[in-house]
Amino acid sequence: MARQEGRATARVPALIVHGGAGADPAEGRAELREGVRVAAAAGWGVLAGGGSAVDAVEAAVRVLEDHPGFNAGRGSVLTSAGTVETDASIMEGDRLSCGAVAAVAGVANPVTLARRVMETGRVVLLAGDGARRFALATGVPECDPASLITERQLARWRERTQAAEPVRGTVGAVALDRAGTVAAATSTGGTAGKLPGRVGDSALIGCGTYADSSLGGVSCTGSGEAIIRVVLARRALDFLKEADDAAYAARVAVDLLVEEGRGDGGLILIDWRGHIGHATSTPLMPVAWMFPALAEPCIAF
Ligand code: ASP
Repeated sequence: MARQEGRATARVPALIVHGGAGADPAEGRAELREGVRVAAAAGWGVLAGGGSAVDAVEAAVRVLEDHPGFNAGRGSVLTSAGTVETDASIMEGDRLSCGAVAAVAGVANPVTLARRVMETGRVVLLAGDGARRFALATGVPECDPASLITERQLARWRERTQAAEPVRGTVGAVALDRAGTVAAATSTGGTAGKLPGRVGDSALIGCGTYADSSLGGVSCTGSGEAIIRVVLARRALDFLKEADDAAYAARVAVDLLVEEGRGDGGLILIDWRGHIGHATSTPLMPVAWMFPALAEPCIAF
């Protein structure tokens, strides 16, 4: 299929969000449900008002970054040094425009910083201190890095349970707007107890995030190194191209992650017609989605 074919006519919008494949089922299930519901509603508000898929995924991911119960923005897991370093990426599928930030400290909404990087049109990925300086230059608010550390994550870090049992809860969103544009975004604090400077899949286009409006969009979560090994987000769209079935593409992509990538995780996906797919190899991945026919976001977990 040529890239532009899927965009000839107006589309019925759709949006899906996830709250990470490593969410702990024993802990705060209701809180996670409410979190993904509010995020889906925020993204949907943008689409329903005629807004763009990029605005919708940014809005949805910002809600989850601000929520202390998810591993992104405030509430991120801590590095081995007890600090927060976040990764995020965003992609718009018409022109394959994309932007990402990696190992950034002191930015509460890394997805917005990733969007600013995308908007430069010249750079795709900015890391570390350079990303933080770029935030200053482009008016993305900085914050005290300590303000992103929650009591819950600090207690985990102090107990040193993180190294033995990685806690994950990355967030992401994929949307299709009325103009037929697909966008995807992912944001994370990474893996608990990670080495400072470690960058995971969520900052890497094609691995944690991908969007092509002629095919669809994907946001991944799970073992970042395994996701990188199999270039999971882009591979999921290849499966979609072969089978033209969103649910199937999500499932076989997760199988690929487990079998070839030797890791665990999940992903959400929307195809160019607005069909959704989601799958995970872990016990729990909070997911919520919206279509015009639904009065409230549908929550699956
Ligand atoms: N994929 C993220 C990372 O490795 C973690 C996660 O999704 O929970 O940084």
